[in-house]
Amino acid sequence: MGILEGKRILVAGVTMDSSIGFSVAKVAQEQGATVLISNFGRALGITRRIAKRLPTEPPVLELDVTDDAHLAGLADAVREHVDGLDGVVHSIAFGNPETILGGKFLGGPWEDVAQAVRVSAYSLMSLTEACRPLMGPGGSVVGMTFDATVAWPAYDWMGVAKAGLESTSRYLARNLGPEGIRCNLVSAGPLKSLAAKAIPGFEQLESMWSDRAPLGWDEKDQDPTARAVCALLSDFFPATTGEIVHVDGGFHAMGA
Ligand code: NAP
Repeated sequence: MGILEGKRILVAGVTMDSSIGFSVAKVAQEQGATVLISNFGRALGITRRIAKRLPTEPPVLELDVTDDAHLAGLADAVREHVDGLDGVVHSIAFGNPETILGGKFLGGPWEDVAQAVRVSAYSLMSLTEACRPLMGPGGSVVGMTFDATVAWPAYDWMGVAKAGLESTSRYLARNLGPEGIRCNLVSAGPLKSLAAKAIPGFEQLESMWSDRAPLGWDEKDQDPTARAVCALLSDFFPATTGEIVHVDGGFHAMGA
């Protein structure tokens, strides 16, 4: 029996099979969960095609986290497929690579910074709030970060947005704990995905990572990250909330 047997899980942010959300959806299904996935806009057609590559084809919902109508309608859209949610995965981020990433920290325009913070950090709250009517005690929200305690090459304003995401997760843990709902993040090392490829210079981090991580690091292998997300969705972390679990080969714990 899998660790997610009987759980109903929404994975928000699946575009390609290179999306971390795709790997999470796959492992969650293998562990017995009923999974729904979401994406938005023009990429929705790609997501619908990619969904067929999962062990069981999941329903694909439309969700732009900056669209208040989508958020307001999300609970009803989910109820068309399942009667509640045990887990929500936030695997969503966006920052304009032309203006605020890839060495463009100084002078980054506020409108683009605001968009990055809204899509990548604030949306952890708005997605959770939209799903809250469907969740109860034992519920678990899991988001994805890239260690925001330090400044990285190329990551720039996405690093600032991730710092906001990490704080948002702690405040969600504070606010939802009394309802028995946990909120945690997985801090992954660099993984080859559309989002990572879109950041000019992000590949510098990939080569440094495999040299420094004591366990080594394979940026093409999303399975360790997906398994950690599924562990946090499961009943095996019942007293853990506001936590950031590193899945980075041990990189974060090394001084050099
Ligand atoms: P990805 O495949 O590009 O996933 C990001 C997802 O966010 C895409 O499905 C994207 O949709 C979606 N998205 C963007 N704007 C949105 C909006 N307004 N509403 C709803 N969805 C929106 O890249 P990924 O690497 O798997 O990223 C998933 C998460 O992991 C992100 O939070 C990322 O920061 C985090 N992370 C990634 C790495 C890494 O090295 N890859 C490391 C640590 C953490 P579109 O494709 O249609 O724009």
